[in-house]
Amino acid sequence: MSVCLMLHGIGPAPERVELDERPYWISEAAFACVLAETKAHGACLTFDDGNDTDARIVLPKLVEAGLTAAFFIPSDRIGTPGYVTEHDILELHQAGMEIGSHGCAHLNWLHAGDAEIANDVTRSIERLAGIIKAPVRSVAIPYGHCDRRVLAVLRRLGIGRVYSSFRGPSIEGAWLVRRDCITADMGTREISALMIRKPDAAEAALTFLRIWRRAGNAAIWAA
Ligand SMILES: [Zn+2]
Repeated sequence: MSVCLMLHGIGPAPERVELDERPYWISEAAFACVLAETKAHGACLTFDDGNDTDARIVLPKLVEAGLTAAFFIPSDRIGTPGYVTEHDILELHQAGMEIGSHGCAHLNWLHAGDAEIANDVTRSIERLAGIIKAPVRSVAIPYGHCDRRVLAVLRRLGIGRVYSSFRGPSIEGAWLVRRDCITADMGTREISALMIRKPDAAEAALTFLRIWRRAGNAAIWAA
């Protein structure tokens, strides 16, 4: 089983960030703790939303720590104030980071039709792949909102791996990756516990059942 963490902005949240999004911005000290714990215990790191801190703060710290991460960028936000530019994305890619889709405009796919989801994903992938001149094969679901219909659309599109907001560790090679979100209210101990705590069999079975009810067979598909 492997742990995957979901992060967003680093440092004080700028004014543009809505009130309900602010708990997802963590301090540079908390980020340093995430990096130290990741180095100690091993985890996959992911950054959603394409905030400009991905390039300004996260990239230099990752390089310094000798770690890599995946960045999921809503393509309509590229180059707008507070978000990564095309140059930033290329720099992330050239530093060995994975670039993935987070749709175009951060839509809630539960409220979108199949064709609209397919268009949102395909357009964002084309834009990102055009910037890095390499294939883009992974998607992180905006808001984590998904059900078996949304996941079936992503599967039909040939998406290689889907990063969700279902919590807990994932089976190695799972197509639908679970992620634990790091939030501003978490202390060092909680961050560390995410990486080292092993759920017992009963808890793991219950979690699987909960995910299966939402995701259907996507819960067991391999990448
Ligand atoms: Zn997002």
